[in-house]
Parts: sequence; C-alpha cells; structure tokens
Amino acid sequence: MMKKYFAPGRVNLIGEHIDYNGGLVLPAALTIGIMGTFKKRDDNKIGLHSATHNFSKEIDLADELVYDASNEWTNYPIGIITQLKKEGHFVPPCDIHFESNLPGGSALSSSAAIEVLTAFMLLQQSESKIDLVWLADFCRMVENDFIGVKCGIMDQFAVALGKADNAILLNCATLEHSYIPIELNDYCLLVMNTKKPRSLIHSKYNERKAESDEALRILQVTSGIKNLCEATVPQLDAIKDEIIRKRALHVVTENLRVKESVKALRFNDLSTFGRLMNASHASLKNLYEVTGLELDTLAEEGQKIKGCLGARMTGGGFGGCAIAIVHKDSVEELKHIVGWKYKRATGLDCEIYESEIGDGVKTM
Ligand code: ADP
Ligand code: MG
Repeated sequence: MMKKYFAPGRVNLIGEHIDYNGGLVLPAALTIGIMGTFKKRDDNKIGLHSATHNFSKEIDLADELVYDASNEWTNYPIGIITQLKKEGHFVPPCDIHFESNLPGGSALSSSAAIEVLTAFMLLQQSESKIDLVWLADFCRMVENDFIGVKCGIMDQFAVALGKADNAILLNCATLEHSYIPIELNDYCLLVMNTKKPRSLIHSKYNERKAESDEALRILQVTSGIKNLCEATVPQLDAIKDEIIRKRALHVVTENLRVKESVKALRFNDLSTFGRLMNASHASLKNLYEVTGLELDTLAEEGQKIKGCLGARMTGGGFGGCAIAIVHKDSVEELKHIVGWKYKRATGLDCEIYESEIGDGVKTM
C-alpha cells in the first residue's frame, strides 16, 4: 500500500533573523513543496530515495545513527528517524520516495519541508492525532542538534501549520500564533531566486546567532529581558561593540516592523506593508549584513519598478530568494528589467515566478 504526503516550502513576508531572537515573524507556506510516498516494508529497514538527488541510502532501524556528511541529504530524514526512536515513537520499516518542485538550498526551507514531511508521514502510520506545534518544535530540534544549524522555529512552524491565503503571525518566544489573511487582489507575490550557490550560509547563520546572543548577554547585565526582541532602541546604547550594536538594532527594529506590518495588513494596506518590506531589506543589508550583491540587486531593482509595492530578501540570506509584492500589470516588466539588470550585475540568470500561499503538511 502506497500513501502520499506533501509538505510545502515557505516564504517569510517580514521579520527576518527574528525567530531565534524570540520575536514576531510572518511566514506563509507556498503551494510548491516536497511530495513523499510511503511504502511499508517487511524487514527492519528504511530506504530513502529522492527524484532530485542521485544518492540513495538504506538504513537498519536497529542501528544507532549519527550525522555523517557522506550521507548527504539523507541526514535530514535520518535525523528525524533517530530522534523519533530516541523519544520512544514507533518508526515503521518502509521505503520513502521524495519528489519536489521546490528549489533546494534557496531559502524557501526545503530542509524544514523534508524534516516535517518525514516526521509527519512516519507518525501518521501509528498515531491518530499529531500535534503540529509539537511536530514543528521537534523538527527544529533535529535541525539544531543533528544537522547543526542553530535556526529558530519559524521554518518548521510555517511548513507544519501553513494555511492557504494566510500568513502566520508567530510569537517565537511563546509559540502563540494567529492567521492573517493575505488578500492581494490586483497584486501578486513574486519569488525571485538568485540561483547563487550558498556554500557559506550555515556557518554565517550560526555567526549571526552568536552575535545576537552576545548582544542579549550584554543587555542582561542591566535588564531582565529574556529575548533580544524585548529590548528597546535606547537600551542598545549599552552595547559598546559597534558590530554587535548594529546586529541588535536590526533585530529590535525588525520586530517593530512586523507589528506595523500586521496593523497594515489587517486594513489591507499593501502600500504601507510594501514600504516596511523595503525598510526590512535595507536593515538586513546595512545592519545585519546578510544580503550581498545578488539579493541587493534583485530587491533594489525590483523596488524601482512602478507597480512594485515592496521587495526584500527572505530567509537566511547570502543568496537564496527575494520576494516582491507587484501589481499584475507590472509583472512582465519586472521580470524583464530585473532579470536583465541582474544578469548584467552578477553574470547569473535569476528565476522569477508568481507564487500562491498554500497549506501546511498534509496527506494527499
Ligand atoms: P533550504 O532549507 O533553504 O532549502 P538548506 O541548505 O537548509 O536550504 O537545505 C537544503 C538541503 O535539503 C539540500 O541540500 C538537500 O540536502 C535537502 N533537500 C531539499 N530538497 C530535497 C529533496 N527533494 N530531496 C532530497 N533532499 C532534499
Ligand atoms: Mg533550511
């Protein structure tokens, strides 16, 4: 018996590098993602296959498994399987085939998609109800401890709990969340992929996390805050190191921009939201320093197009994707002009496409 499951990719509309700082984020699941086919086996093994990756792997459920670079992409499902076993969940012997229309390593969270998909499909075989908030946190922990990326919970949360035509307003400190309807009417959401290989992303990401932790540590000497997002702008004067202060200033102001964005979106004021997106990108470029020529070219050239309300990088940065809110009549012009300017500036071909906001992980 074969069963099929789906987990989406995600974009973050605003609130970048905020999740691990305990603030507010506003991600949305996409309609593109990873499909997984589950087929039961009679031995005690799990076969892992992917239509988009040549490497396959068969593991024995009796073995103790650890992260191993030579296992390539299968480290993600292996991490999930290992942790499920550790926590006493039943893991059924099976073959899993992944298929995908979500570009991997492009900041659209294919890693969270494969984690959440694997955990969801394995637990579905024996558990009647899966708590999706627990599932998101479980997968975040696997990415932190097994894979070694010190990410916050945003990606896994969006992949697990996404809802069509809605963004998720998530408080990453409390996991309190609500859905914000996104009505674009004559506008659409564009994803602009730099197609730049992101070899340094994981170490740079962990470096920013360490800088944020350092800012928090300094502020905690004189205040009782638990997360960097609780700090106010004047409080940041206590940070003497200029780099650390710039990082903290991004975090604190970005968190405020999420609050402003939600207010604007509740009134369907897309123009104000667009301006906040532009301010977010500038802050990620100048203060948090996670953009680079490729993302800056896409976002800033996008912002210049008449009919574009706002554009910014999304996800971790250093390559990957930017997003834009653009009037339907301006989409072709944006694709043409930004594509051409991007090629001239970087020598690379970008990919720009319209995206829809879809549901979280589900049975197909
Ligand atoms: P992102 O999460 O932004 O897409 P990551 O570097 O965190 O980028 O995760 C990308 C990795 O996820 C890929 O290098 C690969 O190991 C794995 N992956 C993504 N999609 C698939 C897929 N369809 N099949 C197998 N592995 C995949
Ligand atoms: Mg990832």
